[in-house]
Amino acid sequence: MRIIAATKNKHKIDEIQAITREFGMEVVSRDDAGVPDVEVEEDGATFEENSEKKAREIMELCGEITIADDSGLMVDALGGAPGVISARFAGEDGNDLANNEKLLKLLADVEPENRTARFVSVITMVYPDGRKIVARGECEGHIIYQPRGNNGFGYDPLFVPNGFDRTFAELSGEEKNRISHRAAALMNLKRKLSEA
Ligand code: IMP
Repeated sequence: MRIIAATKNKHKIDEIQAITREFGMEVVSRDDAGVPDVEVEEDGATFEENSEKKAREIMELCGEITIADDSGLMVDALGGAPGVISARFAGEDGNDLANNEKLLKLLADVEPENRTARFVSVITMVYPDGRKIVARGECEGHIIYQPRGNNGFGYDPLFVPNGFDRTFAELSGEEKNRISHRAAALMNLKRKLSEA
């Protein structure tokens, strides 16, 4: 089954492809599938809304089964922020450095035990006939005080998943892809597909 991935984020595509390859799924990026280069406005209030919107808009352009990942970081001491605006927390879309600096500044006076957080990924699969499957995955951890590591993207250098003493950016791609929110969501999707 060929599936188009609605994201343009190269890091997300790499992770989605590495994880789904293990399931025997063929996921093709929208660029490689030749989908016209449109911007999907992420104006939903939830990961679920944005994920479905992205999947539907791209499915309508390509006419093939499409998945979209909407994801973000939820920090307890910030009431769940940055959440759905994780990519543009500091203003400019996709400026990871500025986003991380803003997060560290907001958490500067927060004690270690109150720095709990989770990454969330919602993957929506939309079929050309309109049907959808929604799968959510989460990964619990905490935010450290200084960035560490060079792998991954986004908030990876600040996030230590539970059960580890390294950040996502210090884990190998294989390690992150075994425990991440994206892996959990895709495993959930696989389970739902096998039950359908
Ligand atoms: P989206 O394109 O609206 O889903 O934006 C997701 C944003 O959440 C990214 O730009 C990152 O800032 C953050 N994010 C989501 N997943 C990850 C991850 O696996 N590692 C680090 N940051 C992530």
